[in-house]
Amino acid sequence: MASNTSVVFDLPPLPSYTLTTREPLLTPISDNILSLILPIIAYWGLSMVYHLIDVYDLFPQYRLHTPAEVLKRNHVTRWHVVRDVILQQVVQTIAGYAVSYFDEQECVGKEEYDVAVWAQRIRIVQRVLPGFLALIGIDALGLAKNLSRSGHTMLAGALSGGKYPGMTQSIILESGVEAIAPAFTEWEMTLASFIFWYFVPFLQFVWAISVVDTWQYFWHRAMHLNRWLYVKFHSRHHRLYVPYAFGALYNHPVEGFLLDTAGTGVGFLTARMTTRQSMWFFTMSTIKTVDDHCGYEFPWDPLQKITSNNAAYHDIHHQSWGIKNNFSQPFFIFWDRMLGTKWEGDVKNRYERSRESAQKKVEQDAAAAAAAATAIKERSEGAVVSEEPTDSNARTRLRRKTLSTSVEDLKGVTHGVASSVLQA
Ligand SMILES: [Zn+2]
Ligand SMILES: [Zn+2]
Repeated sequence: MASNTSVVFDLPPLPSYTLTTREPLLTPISDNILSLILPIIAYWGLSMVYHLIDVYDLFPQYRLHTPAEVLKRNHVTRWHVVRDVILQQVVQTIAGYAVSYFDEQECVGKEEYDVAVWAQRIRIVQRVLPGFLALIGIDALGLAKNLSRSGHTMLAGALSGGKYPGMTQSIILESGVEAIAPAFTEWEMTLASFIFWYFVPFLQFVWAISVVDTWQYFWHRAMHLNRWLYVKFHSRHHRLYVPYAFGALYNHPVEGFLLDTAGTGVGFLTARMTTRQSMWFFTMSTIKTVDDHCGYEFPWDPLQKITSNNAAYHDIHHQSWGIKNNFSQPFFIFWDRMLGTKWEGDVKNRYERSRESAQKKVEQDAAAAAAAATAIKERSEGAVVSEEPTDSNARTRLRRKTLSTSVEDLKGVTHGVASSVLQA
């Protein structure tokens, strides 16, 4: 029954597979829709947490700016911010839906096959090992023989070019004939599994993140270098000199689409991510950009520790003196470092001056408001004193009332005198 396996199978064969449609994570919402909804939930959810921290002033020691600065230095109301963010999210959802509309239905069932493909690649790489080691003067085959004799058969097999004589399996060919074929070793399958399930997705994320950072850096920098682009689009985001969490996506809709939506879209598409991966990627990008605008420098926030691009770093870019620096967003700062746009000067004194100036303005406003209130009070009291009816009937009524009051007063006084006489 056995066939000549050494001819038929140069490599361990790949398993067969059956594809089935991937079940949605949260039925009845499709994964595509969920990947569009999750970033919006994350945006407003995290923003609300920061908003409550702001409102109840829970961590004043970690604030980058004082409440006085929030009050005095921003050139836009919170409601305008909310309105523009919602508009950007509507645009990004429509764009995301349009892209996902052309996506093929995702299937599962091919994973074992894909792992085996990686195992085959690992086996092929081993074949070049003896030749490669010979280049640096190592006799791989001789070494393999010694290792084999001392019981290290796996290492010996790898060094001899991926030859594992004892590793075979019985398989049924399409013709129904049983055959003996080479098999993968356990370490090859473990490594292949790690590459397929962890390493490749990790590289996909690294790629997508690099694409977004690169895309955003050059567009962002262009928006500052080109006056028309700045005035027309990007200046809107810079109305927030004191950023707060839900101002993260406060942009002109064109900028929002060009930088955020298109940037993450290109990152996702070129990394060839699955919809499930895109859920992580879109949501993490959103969380990162909200955190970068939160207005706090927390010592325990992991998002602010993973990279140097954090709330304190991006806040510098929102200041009038740092606006031509720190363009990098949202993950890493390598472009700022490489192209010399990272802010290197002092920040402590500059922040202190901003705080003092805003505090002074608030105090001046409070003093002006108090003075105005006193003036109004005095004026209204003066008006009561000098108030006099203008028509003659009313004047007569007032005179009669005054006279009767005087008479009553006199009566009272007389009564009082009488009482005191009686008491005496
Ligand atoms: Zn900017
Ligand atoms: Zn910003």
